[in-house]
Amino acid sequence: MHIAIWPGATEIIVAPARFRRTGIARTPIVNRPSPLVIGIAPVGSTPEQEQEQEIYEVRKKIYPRAVHGWFAGWRVFFVIFTQVIFYGLPWLQWNGRQAVLFDLPSRKFYIFGLAFWPQDFIYLTAFLLISALSLFLFTAVAGRLWCGYACPQTVYTELFLWIERKIEGDRLARMRLDAAPWSLEKFVHRALKHISWFIVALWTGYTFVGYFTPIHELGIRGMTWQLGPWETFWVLFYGFATYGNAGFMREQVCKYMCPYARFQSVMFDRDTLTITYDPIRGEPRGPRSKKTDRGAAGLGDCIECQICVQVCPVGIDIRKGLQYECIGCAACVDGCNQVMDKMGYPPGLIRYTTENALARGYDTKAMWRRVFRPRTLVYAAVLLAIIAVAVGSLAMRNPLKVDIIRDRGALAREATPGLIENVYRLQLMNTDETARRVTISARGVPGIAVVGVEQPIALEPASSRLIALRLQAPVDAGGQAQKTGPQPIEFVVRAVDNEEVVRYERSSFIFPR
Ligand code: SF4
Ligand code: SF4
Repeated sequence: MHIAIWPGATEIIVAPARFRRTGIARTPIVNRPSPLVIGIAPVGSTPEQEQEQEIYEVRKKIYPRAVHGWFAGWRVFFVIFTQVIFYGLPWLQWNGRQAVLFDLPSRKFYIFGLAFWPQDFIYLTAFLLISALSLFLFTAVAGRLWCGYACPQTVYTELFLWIERKIEGDRLARMRLDAAPWSLEKFVHRALKHISWFIVALWTGYTFVGYFTPIHELGIRGMTWQLGPWETFWVLFYGFATYGNAGFMREQVCKYMCPYARFQSVMFDRDTLTITYDPIRGEPRGPRSKKTDRGAAGLGDCIECQICVQVCPVGIDIRKGLQYECIGCAACVDGCNQVMDKMGYPPGLIRYTTENALARGYDTKAMWRRVFRPRTLVYAAVLLAIIAVAVGSLAMRNPLKVDIIRDRGALAREATPGLIENVYRLQLMNTDETARRVTISARGVPGIAVVGVEQPIALEPASSRLIALRLQAPVDAGGQAQKTGPQPIEFVVRAVDNEEVVRYERSSFIFPR
């Protein structure tokens, strides 16, 4: 589909492409096949004024060149670090169970010694808040650090690219192979690459599902073709997503699918560190030999070698300024530094710097002073406060949880003359890794007592138990009639082995009128 836009347009024309040559629609004649042409044409515009734009940019395949250097080292470190955690964590055992397991059917999340229940959603909120604030902080300090080093899209693209380079070679070899006609060699290279990608992708899908179903069990059932339909679906879906996104889509995900790229600019300001080409130092650019005296030749430091463009995984030229496609991976910094080194020029023609530092000529010290400015300090303070509260609250978390369910069918009845009885069901939850025994009592109404349940009650580690019990209270206590209607009471659930583990839960006891 094409859009033709004339400067000063006053009229919109939409016509099937076959009308283009007939003069029915005043749209530019283009040679590419298109089912529809949309034109915005001013009255009296000339062909010279016509500009044609495509709605969807045709993708140009990118062949990123391998690069080495300080930041490339960090990217490799983060790929290894994140993937060792991702692939390794589900295999760790803790107290006889999987250390990290999100057990959705029983609605319990296990993270090492902690078991989280639906009632613990506050910790999920804290986790999301911490993640969001960390993103704000890191982005305000140094731009798209997450995108460049730790985002799964970047990490898996790096991993798949590494496999591609090992099998098909670096940039030029891959370009040649792509352009070459099909041959046995090309087929073998392609097959090897796709089989390797497929294995990594399938293992990624299997690992992902292993966070939700015990991974040992999943592996055994997988090998004996006994996986359930949902497990099969998610292994394949996640594997397919990895294969497609890291093998084929690559920079397209960052450019067109990821919303973060679109709103990151609101988190940037003039003191945010971003990867920037220094035009004052680099321009006027131009090729030259190493021996050329650039001062005498009237040249800047950029030798127009295009290495920064060739190493860029999103295929942009950073010398045109900060662009939303830039994922902040710093490959161009390493690439350009290698060139500067070979030319005998100082490094840092492309570097992490701030808009203000570049415009006002700050030295490194002055630039870093502004990086830690009120905005980032406020983010950091709020982030630390939330982390401290969440950690403190986790450390002091009461391992006992109690949910009270009133039996609506039998709110109150007279058990024996002068004795009123209410029925309750208590869900007792032990979030600890050790078994507990607890007692239940009630208070708030004179003479109230728990009946119909054998005490103490045993609770298995990280388990819940539904207990049905009755509360009885006399109509007259100490010669005085109790108030009728619902009366506030409190259940006290106390651990036998530790007096400090206690839970007070409010409810009501009804005296019939
Ligand atoms: S790598 Fe450096 S020298 Fe080469 S074109 Fe890019 S900015 Fe210029
Ligand atoms: S411009 Fe540089 S930092 Fe940005 S994506 Fe390309 S190589 Fe990475």
